[in-house]
Amino acid sequence: MSKYIAAIDQGTTSTRCILFNHQGNIVSVGQKEHEQIYPHPGWVEHNPTEIWKNTLEVIALARINISAHTQDIAAVGITNQRETTVVWNKRTGKPYYNALVWQDTRTTDLVAKYEKEGGLNQFRDITGLPVSTYFSGLKLKWLLENVEGIREDAEKGEAIFGNMDTFLIWHLTGGTQGGIHVTDVTNASRTQLMNLRTLQWDQSMLNAYNIPEIMLPAIKSSSEIYGYATHEVLPGVPVAGDLGDQHAALVGQTCFEPGMAKNTYGTGCFLVMNTGTELKTSENGLLTTISYKFGDQPVQYALEGSVAVTGALVQWLRDNLGLIQNSGDIEPLAQTVEDNGGAYFVPAFSGLYAPYWRNDARGVVAGLTRYVNKGHIARAVLEATAYQTADVVKAMEQDSGIQLASLRVDGGMIHNQLLMQFQSDILNTQVVSPAVAETTALGAAYAAGLAVGYWKSTEDLKKNWAIAHTWNPDMPEEKRNAYYKGWKKAVTKSYDWID
Ligand code: ADP
Repeated sequence: MSKYIAAIDQGTTSTRCILFNHQGNIVSVGQKEHEQIYPHPGWVEHNPTEIWKNTLEVIALARINISAHTQDIAAVGITNQRETTVVWNKRTGKPYYNALVWQDTRTTDLVAKYEKEGGLNQFRDITGLPVSTYFSGLKLKWLLENVEGIREDAEKGEAIFGNMDTFLIWHLTGGTQGGIHVTDVTNASRTQLMNLRTLQWDQSMLNAYNIPEIMLPAIKSSSEIYGYATHEVLPGVPVAGDLGDQHAALVGQTCFEPGMAKNTYGTGCFLVMNTGTELKTSENGLLTTISYKFGDQPVQYALEGSVAVTGALVQWLRDNLGLIQNSGDIEPLAQTVEDNGGAYFVPAFSGLYAPYWRNDARGVVAGLTRYVNKGHIARAVLEATAYQTADVVKAMEQDSGIQLASLRVDGGMIHNQLLMQFQSDILNTQVVSPAVAETTALGAAYAAGLAVGYWKSTEDLKKNWAIAHTWNPDMPEEKRNAYYKGWKKAVTKSYDWID
């Protein structure tokens, strides 16, 4: 039997290839960052060709580290930054334009148009999502309307759409020489073009956004053999798992029962709760989405609260203000003070996502006095992540009627002890991190491994999950309430900035 499963984790800031063994432990990692391109305020792009090259490099790196032979790798699974949209030519393999990244807000005017015409929630019943700059459908519409040649070539069957999963699977399985054009239900659910009940592209959505169906990938389950890699970095290896990053993390955290939830702290924060086979509509601004679908087993639905800017705010402090050199430096800086000194940072850089959905909001720092120093700002930056998460948890508890017993966490920011303790304090809930922190990649590996029989069932996977760290709440109720009240007030100050 092969020894490993490979996972490709195509994230917002970097691409990784991780090899996992049967216990779900990491045996090798290759990683490379890619350029963040900001051509105008609010626009965020990636170069898809750079990302494909990086993918090849990181696969080779992960293999070289441990001299893994092709036959040592049973399957490869892909997980990706969701919603990020690319259109490329099937004959040449060339993208027509840079990928529009999920954070990109260039479709703000389109959102306003749909809001006027039928309201932001007009497509919620079909897609589980409000109209927003966030999802791929409007990004694709923008490309079709603004980049010469795309619509014409799409109608000829030459210009094809994908998120980064689709783009990488197409390249891995042959590219211009017959690459497979597929996506999975979780990624498709974030285009706002898929019907959540039929799991097919929805004709009324395609009409609403004027998108030619011919350019869309086939929608598959999250765990099945889509095809075989032809590229020399993984020749003949089955490509057998595909999950959007947040769905992959849910799987990696083995949240297989209804009511189980995880929160991933990366560039943004994403809280996902498995709601089982039941599709729940949110009354509190959350998204209805898909947890996963393994092969021909029933689809599992989810509720999700997404926060656009969490770790990205730490990066902003580093790159735009130069207050810290590395993201990790924020913790010692925050520890130079006792508390936030009354300052709150609402990082509504691209509006506010769940549960507010305010496209008109922009960032504010509230509560400043002469007393506030850079330590307080560092604290306010970290606390912003915890408050935004608390907003989402409260909405989720109301929608699901389930009170979270504990929150499973993962992502780059969980190395920050101060943040995790504050998170537990502000939620008044236990926070738990798993032994294998790379849950996103692990989820993709699990999906691929299940498809090829490397793991037999989800019971096998549950046995792999173990606790690394637990943070327990330790804040008096009065203090907790006062902090949270300050945050809610600060949020209202970010509204109505964009007319
Ligand atoms: P993504 O998958 O979205 O690229 P990661 O899970 O790799 O993100 O997390 C990276 C993010 O976490 C960055 O935004 C970075 O600024 C932030 N981050 C990393 N380490 C820390 C830390 N010790 N304290 C606070 N933020 C951190």
